Amino acid sequence: MNIKNLTRTFPLLAALLAAGPAAAAGGKLRVLATTDYLGSLTQTIGGDKVKVDYLSPAGFDADNYSPRPQDLFKIHRAKLFIMVGLSLEDWARDLVNAANNPGLIKAEVYHGIKLLDVPKGSVDFSFGDIHPHGNPHFQLDPEDGRVMARNIKTALAYADPANKDYYAANLADFERRLTAAEARWKELMAPYKGWAFTPYHEDMDYFAQAFQLSIPKPPNTIEEKPGFVPSPRRIEEVINQGKTAGVKLIVTEPYYDVSIGRAVANGEKLPFLVVSLYDIGLDPKQTDYISMEDSIVTRFAQAFAGHGD
Ligand SMILES: [Zn+2]
Repeated sequence: MNIKNLTRTFPLLAALLAAGPAAAAGGKLRVLATTDYLGSLTQTIGGDKVKVDYLSPAGFDADNYSPRPQDLFKIHRAKLFIMVGLSLEDWARDLVNAANNPGLIKAEVYHGIKLLDVPKGSVDFSFGDIHPHGNPHFQLDPEDGRVMARNIKTALAYADPANKDYYAANLADFERRLTAAEARWKELMAPYKGWAFTPYHEDMDYFAQAFQLSIPKPPNTIEEKPGFVPSPRRIEEVINQGKTAGVKLIVTEPYYDVSIGRAVANGEKLPFLVVSLYDIGLDPKQTDYISMEDSIVTRFAQAFAGHGD
């Protein structure tokens, strides 16, 4: 979408944006997040002191979100904007510039994450839709969930210092529940330590590291280059390399062509799993960050045991 033409196409939007930002929402801090899981974590830490909305809907790929006209207004009236960072939301930069909200506080939650897949040397478009500053898909490592929650608490306390103790108490409660859940997840995944799987996109590396799984290289991912549909030659290569590397599970995300992942799984006679990294609220079992992780870990364990999708 061409952001520059938006306000010309939608005159009402131009009028709304010309008005001063209305940050308060019934006395609550108005927070906008880029993704569903950031919105959910913000709700968990912000409790009843915040009014939270998010941009890229659950079920969509935040790598490739196309902003909508109403997103400009959402940014215009927010007090705090929470992003992943690391170029995941390159699509948000023009929106923020066009939203006429000079007082907007921006927070990127990747600070403090031990980044994976940081490219060595310079990258250009020939690499595909690569993550040029390191892999931004760290949300499935529960310890990174902890880092994100702490960063969100810091941002909320900065934007709304009067309630900083409330945010700190909610963070402490979240961390207690996360620690207990992590023990359960580690136990569930323990039988599969070292097991190999192949994801479609480079978005499971942190998850694999957290649960001591392996993503063998090659094939690494079904995609040859991020953002490009793999060729039939590539698919055959992934199947052959996967057999040699002892891969035990094929995983894809619902917003890519699921039939490709299924063809690879069939070619290797392996279980197959469809996992969305953005699924809070769509799956009735995934209502917040911890239940999302709970559902994904459980489904991985079931798929490794032969019960895939
Ligand atoms: Zn990506």
